[in-house]
Amino acid sequence: MRSKKVRRCLGVSVCGILLFMMSESIIDFFKVIPHDIFILNDIDNGSSCALPKHDPFDSSIMKYFYDIELPCDKYPDVVYLDSELQIQTNTSAVKEAGWRHLTCEREMIQRVNEENIAYVPLGSNASSTVYSDCSKISCMDESSSLVYQQMMFHVDSKRLLKTKVIKDEDPEIPSVLIFGIDSLSQLMAKRLLPNTLEYLQRSIGAYIFNGYTKVAENTFPNLISLLSGRKEISEAFYRDKYLDNIIPFIWKNFSDKGYVTMFAEEQPMSPSFNAVSKGFKNPPTDHYFMPCAMAMDNTKTLIHSPNYKYSSTFYKLLLLKQFMFCHGSKAKYEIHIDYLKSFLSSYKNKRKFSVTWIASLAHDEPNYLRLADDQFREFFKWSNINGHLKNTILIFVGDHGSNLNDIRNTVIGRVEERMPIFAIALPPHLKQKYPNLDVNLRLNKDRLTSHFDTYYTMVDILQGSFSVSHGKGQVGRSLFRPVPSDRSCQDAGIRREYCPCHKYVPVDVPIEKLKTFAQKIVEKINSKFNIVNMQCKQLSLNKIENSQKIMSHFVPVAQKKQFTWYSLWHVRSTHIESKQYRMLISTLPGSARFESSVTVHSNGKIEVWDQISRANRYGNQSHCVKEIELKPFCFCG
Ligand SMILES: [Zn+2]
Repeated sequence: MRSKKVRRCLGVSVCGILLFMMSESIIDFFKVIPHDIFILNDIDNGSSCALPKHDPFDSSIMKYFYDIELPCDKYPDVVYLDSELQIQTNTSAVKEAGWRHLTCEREMIQRVNEENIAYVPLGSNASSTVYSDCSKISCMDESSSLVYQQMMFHVDSKRLLKTKVIKDEDPEIPSVLIFGIDSLSQLMAKRLLPNTLEYLQRSIGAYIFNGYTKVAENTFPNLISLLSGRKEISEAFYRDKYLDNIIPFIWKNFSDKGYVTMFAEEQPMSPSFNAVSKGFKNPPTDHYFMPCAMAMDNTKTLIHSPNYKYSSTFYKLLLLKQFMFCHGSKAKYEIHIDYLKSFLSSYKNKRKFSVTWIASLAHDEPNYLRLADDQFREFFKWSNINGHLKNTILIFVGDHGSNLNDIRNTVIGRVEERMPIFAIALPPHLKQKYPNLDVNLRLNKDRLTSHFDTYYTMVDILQGSFSVSHGKGQVGRSLFRPVPSDRSCQDAGIRREYCPCHKYVPVDVPIEKLKTFAQKIVEKINSKFNIVNMQCKQLSLNKIENSQKIMSHFVPVAQKKQFTWYSLWHVRSTHIESKQYRMLISTLPGSARFESSVTVHSNGKIEVWDQISRANRYGNQSHCVKEIELKPFCFCG
C-alpha cells in the first residue's frame, strides 16, 4: 500500500513538474526570438569578448583636439531672480553697463502643445500665480527703449507641491540623477573631462565602465533603450506619432512611486526625440524643459548700453556657433547645470528622477568639452557637499561616441564611436549595507555592457532590489548582478554593426572582389531613392577608401530558439560559413563617404548590412528631401 501511495505521489509530482516545464516552454515559444549561438574564435583569450583597449591620447587622434574659446558674448548678468523668483537688478552690473536705471518686465513661458508656447506677461513685481520654469525678461532704460533681453530659468516647485504628493527620499528608495552628454565616448571623456572623471571616481566612488557599448546608430534608439528597455522599431515608424503611449519610459514608473520627475534637453530640435517623432502630446515628466528650450531659441538676446552692444539676431541668421552654443553671455550647458541645481535644491530630500541631456557640447565640436570640465566637476562637488548625492544614484552617460567624420574614420575613432561613457555612483550607505553591489559593479565595469543594462539597473532601483537583483530582460540585465564573462553582443542587445568585440584584419580577397562589395553598397543606397524620392541623384562608386576583414571574436555556429534544456521544440539550423568585410567608400556626385559592411556567404551571395553610416558631413546636399532617414544619403539633383 505504502509503495503504491509513494508511486502515485511520485507520478503526480513528475506530471506536475512536466506540466510546469511544458507551460514554461509554451510561453517561451511565443516569447523568445531566434538567437544565434556563438563559439569563441580566439580560444586563447580567457574572456569571450576582448574589449578594445586604446590610449585616449594616441598621436593618431590627438591632431583633432585643440584649445578653443567659449564663443558666448561677454557681459555681466544684469538681472537675476531671487529666492522668491522675483526679478532683481544687479546694481553693480547695471552701473558697469553704463545705465542709471532699468525697468524690467517679465513674460512667463507656457506650454501650449509640443510645437507651440505662449508668453504670459507679468509685471516686474507681481507675485507669480502663473507657474513656469522659465521667463523672458525685457528691460527698458530711462527713455523706454528696449535695451536688455534674456531668458531666465528656474525650477518652480510651488505648483507641483500643491498638486502631487512627492514622497521623501529613503535610504532604501534613492533618487536617480542621469547626467547625459550627447556623443560623449568613454575615451573622449578621459581625454577632455579628466577633472570631472577624477572627481567622480575619487570623491564620489563612481565606477567607470570600460565595455559600455551603444546598441544602435544615433541618439533616438539609444535613448529609447536606456529609458525604456525597448528596441527601436524603425525610424519611419515614429515619424508621425507622439511617444506618450508608444514607449513606456521608466520615468512614469518612478513618478507612480512618488518621485518628482524631470527631463531637460537644451535644443528643441536636437536629435533625441523631437527630430524623429512628434515628441510628447502631454509633458512626459513633472518638469519638462522643452517649452523653455523653444523660448530660448526664439528669444533674441540683447544688451544695448553705453558700454556693451550685443544682439543675437546676426548669430541666428547665420546659425553661428554663438547661437547654437550660447544664450547671450551664458553657454547652454551652464544654463542646464543651473537648472539642474535649481531642481535639486527645490526638491531636496524628496524622491527625484531626472534626466539632463546636454547636446551642444560634444555633438558638433568636441573641443568645447574641455571648457566644461571644471564646471562639471564643480557641479558634482556642489551636489556632493550640499548633500544632494546622499541618497542619490548618479549616472553619467553618453548615448554614443563622436560621429564626426574626422574622428570616426580613424581606427580608434571607430571604436570610440561605439562606446559611450558610462559611470555610476551609489550612496555609501547602500554599498555598506549591500556589499554585493560593490562586488558586482567592480566586476561588471570590465565586461561587455549596454544601455539595456542601465535600464534594468533602474528597474532594480525602482523595486528596491539591492540584495537580490531581479532586473533582467531578453537582452540586458541589471548591473547589480554579475554580467557573464562570455557575454555576446547579441546577449547585450548590441547590434552586430556596433559590436566592439570585432577585430579587423587585412582583407584576403582581390581588389575586383572588393569593388563588387562596394558596388552592392552603392546599389543599396540608390534603392532608397527609387522608392521614396526621385529628386536624389543616383550615386556611383568613386573609390574604396579603406577595407578590412572583420574577425569577430564570436563565430556563429547555429541558430536556435533560446529554450531551456527541457524544451519540447528546439530549432537548429546549420551555420553556413560566411566572411564579413567592413568598407569605407566614397561616391559621386557629392563626394560622400559611407561606411558599411557586407557578408559574403559560402554560396557567393553578398549581403549588405542594414546599417550604412554617412562618414562625412552632408551639409546642405540633401536640402530637397524632408525624410530624416534620407538626409545622409541624398544628393539633390
Ligand atoms: Zn546622440
